[in-house]
Amino acid sequence: KDFALNITGTFIIKVSLDNKIIDVNEPFLKYTNYEKGDIVDKVFFSSLVTKYSGIDYKTFLTKLYSKGVSEADIGIVTKDKKEIFMSVFAKSCKNENGILYYVFVCKDISEFYHEEKYSSSINEGRMIFKGLAESESVLDKNFSMFNGVERLKESENKHKFLIDSMNIGMLDFDVKKNKFYFSDKCKQLLCKDAHANNRDIKNILITRMYKEDYYKVLKNVHLAVSNKLDSFKSSFRLVNDDKSYTYIEFFGKLTYNREGEIINLAGSLTDISSACIYQEKIKKLAYYDNLTGLDNRTYMEEYVDMLYKNNPYSRSAFIFLDIDDFKFINDSFGHYFGDKVICEMAVRIRSISKNYIVSRFSGDEIAIFIPEYGTLEGLINYIELLSTTLSISYDDEKDVSYSVEASIGISVSPDNGKDFEDLLKCADIAMNRVKNMGKNKYLFFDKKMQEDLKEQLEIEKDLKNAVGANGELLLYLQPQYDINTGRLSGFESLTRWSSPKRGMVPPSVFIPIAEETRLIVPLGRWVLLESCRLLKELQGRGYKDIKISVNLSPIQLIDNHLIEYVKEILFETEIDTGMLELEITETALMENFELNLKKLYELKDMGISMALDDFGTGYSSLTYLKTLPMSSIKIDKSFIDNVSTSNIDKRITEKIIELSHVLNFKTIAEGVETKEQLQFVKSMGCDIVQGFFSGMPIYKDDVFKALGNNLYSYFNTAARELSFPNK
Ligand code: C2E
Ligand code: CA
Ligand code: CA
Repeated sequence: KDFALNITGTFIIKVSLDNKIIDVNEPFLKYTNYEKGDIVDKVFFSSLVTKYSGIDYKTFLTKLYSKGVSEADIGIVTKDKKEIFMSVFAKSCKNENGILYYVFVCKDISEFYHEEKYSSSINEGRMIFKGLAESESVLDKNFSMFNGVERLKESENKHKFLIDSMNIGMLDFDVKKNKFYFSDKCKQLLCKDAHANNRDIKNILITRMYKEDYYKVLKNVHLAVSNKLDSFKSSFRLVNDDKSYTYIEFFGKLTYNREGEIINLAGSLTDISSACIYQEKIKKLAYYDNLTGLDNRTYMEEYVDMLYKNNPYSRSAFIFLDIDDFKFINDSFGHYFGDKVICEMAVRIRSISKNYIVSRFSGDEIAIFIPEYGTLEGLINYIELLSTTLSISYDDEKDVSYSVEASIGISVSPDNGKDFEDLLKCADIAMNRVKNMGKNKYLFFDKKMQEDLKEQLEIEKDLKNAVGANGELLLYLQPQYDINTGRLSGFESLTRWSSPKRGMVPPSVFIPIAEETRLIVPLGRWVLLESCRLLKELQGRGYKDIKISVNLSPIQLIDNHLIEYVKEILFETEIDTGMLELEITETALMENFELNLKKLYELKDMGISMALDDFGTGYSSLTYLKTLPMSSIKIDKSFIDNVSTSNIDKRITEKIIELSHVLNFKTIAEGVETKEQLQFVKSMGCDIVQGFFSGMPIYKDDVFKALGNNLYSYFNTAARELSFPNK
């Protein structure tokens, strides 16, 4: 009986009606470090109690007295003054004369108690445990009816009944005779075959055990034996036919002879699957990355914050890395290879980072946390090793071999912060700086980055207000001329931000921020609306052949509402859509070609024309170019800049113009600043010119003044230059 109760890992406490502890089982003593003599018949149960959860002691007892059963989560103090938490199921045991004593069957839940996250798994565990406790309690009641000689027999019966009722399989291994014995329950647990003999069962047990767990159990047995322990606990998984797992808790009891040799191993196997699966799932979801098995971000976050709570002055390093051009790997070799690279990276990083926390955040982002990095020199050595380890080529069966490079940002505590969030932020900034500088390097976070970041955040905030229509955004228009006739052909809309705090902020500063924060969507919508309103006014005043070109950011292009709001604006302003043009950069287009193409055709169907902006700076294929519904190509300013000095740029410009004519596009030369540049592009047959030489961007309200009484006079100088005969 003792053995049976001892192996269940369950504490049993007998309490008299006046609350005195009258008996406890072995596991309870072991766990709390009390000796039997310390507490039995000496101590009131309530004096051990530190707290009740959910229910107070009086209610607990009243219920126990009146209903015969009661339950609560109770904290008690151990001999060495630690607090442990138990889920207690209590039952009163009576005979015909009334209540004799109470039995408290308790399960240790300390492990879960502090973790709110596990509260649902505690409940589940509690349900299983409740069934267990009930059967023990019922037995105890029956047991108390017998006495004397009957007792021994009953004890055996009870033993058997108890074990059978608790879903616990028993095994016994006679080491000297090398003989196994398995109880019926154990047989049921391990195999369906009712006729299997002990040897069969042993083999089934070994073959069904999950390999790694098998070695783990062996190791635990070995450890217990070599340390002469009299018991040990180890859990393992049985692999079911459908590849699912049955989780088993194995509690073993060892017997040695006088010489100290092991002679017997007896044990219990308890099916703890339902609790385990649940816990495992929660734990996995909560703390692991599915693909690589690395810890996930949540785990690292909790770990790091915990570390600083305990040791605010630790000199830790936070390393954040991101593979360069990972999208290219996925696109070129497929996601399967991409995943393989990430898994292999995880293995490599782990192999050189034994005592560090390595965690995958998302996609190709991996973070490494070094709790104490020691010397800066050591840290740098590690980072260089990391960088070379990662750059070794990755191969797969299909002969793909590819070397990845990573950009690495590092932050250190306490200098850069003392919690997860700050360290991550700083390392992330440093990493992004590496990306901008040309990748495949590492950088430590520094103060300058901090200041830049602060500035960036401030701009973000102010820009948000500016987009919120407080009149700070201004529409400017830069004229475009027909190179052959010298006539004004249209304007490009360029946004200006006049910030009361910062003065005129150039688009090269605020557009990238607007894109990063998606503020470009409302901003772009505003520009389009303003431009269309202006266009409507132009058309109303008779300027029916003037085009307005509006820049469309890649973020606007991928936005699902684009088509919808363009339609709304067209409806509201009632313009002749033939005079509206949208400028899209080639890189933006290539990102998600099929989808973008569909949208471009929808826009085209509304009568809008399109220009390919910054042509020559991205990489578009000729096949794609052929299928684009574009009407013009804008040659990037960088080529125009050098046409007077570089023969190569001259030839490229010439060939771009030729190519665009083959494809039936008009060419627009952008950023023309000098007479020489203008004459060159004109001689090459370019169609339209836009640049400071022919006209600076002007404020919206000045457009009509410029066009004014004397048509196009504002642009006369440029117009005159344009009419120079072609040399
Ligand atoms: P972009 O679309 O390539 O616009 C042309 C830029 O070149 C404009 O700069 C224009 O002022 C400038 N530019 C024109 N001619 C010359 C010249 O002869 N010399 C020089 N040095 N520059 C010249 P801006 O207005 O600063 O705009 C910069 C970029 O910001 C634009 O480049 C465009 O990508 C973006 N942007 C401006 N406004 C908007 C907008 O409303 N929406 C979107 N999505 N982007 C905009
Ligand atoms: Ca443009
Ligand atoms: Ca451009």
